[in-house]
Amino acid sequence: MICPECGTEFPKSTGRGMPRRFCRDECRTLWQNGTSMLVNEATRLRRNSKDCLFNARLYSGDTSDRWQAAAVKYAEEAARLDALVTERRGR
Ligand SMILES: [Zn+2]
Repeated sequence: MICPECGTEFPKSTGRGMPRRFCRDECRTLWQNGTSMLVNEATRLRRNSKDCLFNARLYSGDTSDRWQAAAVKYAEEAARLDALVTERRGR
């Protein structure tokens, strides 16, 4: 097994229960903290996206288009982080 946090190889756990994913508790904690940071960042990006959409409705023409484009960018980045979070939580 390779620890996804630090890359250290460790023996596969034997016996009952869920197989270990991390070489040590510290790595599990670091990994979970990293995942929470990604969740928070995705939330922030979605909020930015909403604000941009709000501004897009306030303005017209090019200015509105620029806000709209920014909203899409934020939403895409949030979706990318969501996928990362799902991947990190998986297995
Ligand atoms: Zn580790």
